[in-house]
Amino acid sequence: MGMLEGKRVLIVGIASNRSIAAGIANAMHREGAELAFTYQNDKLKSRVEKIAEECGSNVLAPCDVTDDTEIERVFKTLGSHWDGVDGIVHSVAFAPGDHLEGDYLENLTRDGFKLSQDISAYSFAALAKAARPLMRDRQSALLTLTYLGSQRVMPNYNVMGVAKASLEANVRYMAAALGPDNIRVNAISAGPIRTLAASGIGDFRKLLSVAETMAPMRRNVTIEEVGNVAAFLCSDLASAVTGEIMYVDNGINIMGATPLEK
Ligand code: NAP
Repeated sequence: MGMLEGKRVLIVGIASNRSIAAGIANAMHREGAELAFTYQNDKLKSRVEKIAEECGSNVLAPCDVTDDTEIERVFKTLGSHWDGVDGIVHSVAFAPGDHLEGDYLENLTRDGFKLSQDISAYSFAALAKAARPLMRDRQSALLTLTYLGSQRVMPNYNVMGVAKASLEANVRYMAAALGPDNIRVNAISAGPIRTLAASGIGDFRKLLSVAETMAPMRRNVTIEEVGNVAAFLCSDLASAVTGEIMYVDNGINIMGATPLEK
């Protein structure tokens, strides 16, 4: 029996089959979860539909997370299919491209700062607020994706590092607020992975290569490895884990310097 047998989980943030959310959906499907999906716009609908089909699901709803009406509508749709929701995976982030390169302050604007906070941090709380009645008292779990750039300065990550710091604080405040409703809230801090979002970060290829050299395991992480940990965190095996930022990065976060060449 899979560790997510009987669980109903909403996946938010698939853009392609290389998306971290796609790796998570596959792992959760394998572990027996029933899944539903959102897509940001009609351009992405057919791609998400294909992945949903592979996961045995036909429950799909549009959701641009900047739009409260769309968020409300997603849970109305889910409510008509399911009697409750046991998990939500939030795998969404955005900052304007020109903010993800060069000097942090030179490229920073008020609008860019607000938008990155709105899409990358606030939206996690917005989904939780809307889903709370459907998730209450059923050992449910929320999960988001973050990156080490929230804690340490990474070249070109800039305003997204600030948004991820906000997202991680969000995880702790949400965990404290939702614990009494028997809802857990956690994040996975993934090592760098080549995806559409990541390709918007300046010199991302170089970052991947540095990460490979620096990681104790001497390789980069895969979406399958992130998916496995996500499945565990949303399962009852993790019933006492909440408010946690779990690193799935082959150990890069423990390093103080790149290993010296012999
Ligand atoms: P991805 O495949 O490009 O996924 C990012 C998703 O966010 C896309 O589906 C994107 O849709 C969606 N999104 C952006 N704005 C949205 C909005 N307003 N409403 C709804 N959805 C929106 O990239 P990914 O790397 O898998 O990213 C998933 C999460 O993992 C992000 O939070 C990212 O920061 C985090 N993460 C990534 C890495 C990495 O190295 N890749 C490492 C650590 C953490 P569109 O494509 O339509 O914009």
